[in-house]
Amino acid sequence: MTKRFPALFVSHGAPTLLIDECPTHDFLMRLGKEIGKPKGIVSVSAHWTTAEPRVTMHPSPPTIYDFGGFPNELYSLKYQAPGDLILAKRVMSLLHAQGIPADKDMSRGYDHGAWVPLMLMYPEAEIPVIQLSVQPHEGPEHHLAIGKALHALRDESILIIASGSATHNLRDFFGRKLDAESLPYAREFTEWLKEAVVDGRTGELLDYVNRAPHAILNHPTPEHFLPLFVAMGAGYKGALLHDAYTYGFLSMAAFQWE
Ligand code: ZN
Repeated sequence: MTKRFPALFVSHGAPTLLIDECPTHDFLMRLGKEIGKPKGIVSVSAHWTTAEPRVTMHPSPPTIYDFGGFPNELYSLKYQAPGDLILAKRVMSLLHAQGIPADKDMSRGYDHGAWVPLMLMYPEAEIPVIQLSVQPHEGPEHHLAIGKALHALRDESILIIASGSATHNLRDFFGRKLDAESLPYAREFTEWLKEAVVDGRTGELLDYVNRAPHAILNHPTPEHFLPLFVAMGAGYKGALLHDAYTYGFLSMAAFQWE
């Protein structure tokens, strides 16, 4: 029996989200249980950027530690979910059918944008996962089109998890505590984003650079925001699932599209 799954956008925060006690850690642990187990997962992570879409085809993807300066225990964690060659091929054919170029990558493993939320949501790591890359030089429309191309997967018991960050100006990381009060520029952007998603204001969201308050300050580079458009394109009605901050500047907002 197949079940329809929503498309998700989650903010993955710092890799220490796995060991930090904070509301988002608990939220992601709950979320996996609430959503239930899909047959496979397509993860669209901000930490894999390529010129054209790439899809992982490694049968047992290694865990990539694409971060530096964090506690040692994070570098011994492994997310050992299997890959899924059939799902990878299905994703490529759905993209090709819409004229979107996509190619396979045989050696790529899971980056922390993918495995940090997955380790909280599905710690057993028994659900196959493939990753799909982000194209930072392409705009929101390109990522919305990718999501639209993939929306049929939701009826095939596949969960689409876009992983980035609702706000992401790392300049403000240093010297701030995990539970620091949220900074006004991050809060104003996030409030705008929440309303625009829930009200379905797609046109404004696509033009977030001009419409959202402090858009460039929150996203000096777009790669952590663009995954949101993939999840948005794969669904219809947006809803806010989670609203919190870490380090004052990182909105941990999460959304789903039914
Ligand atoms: Zn990140």
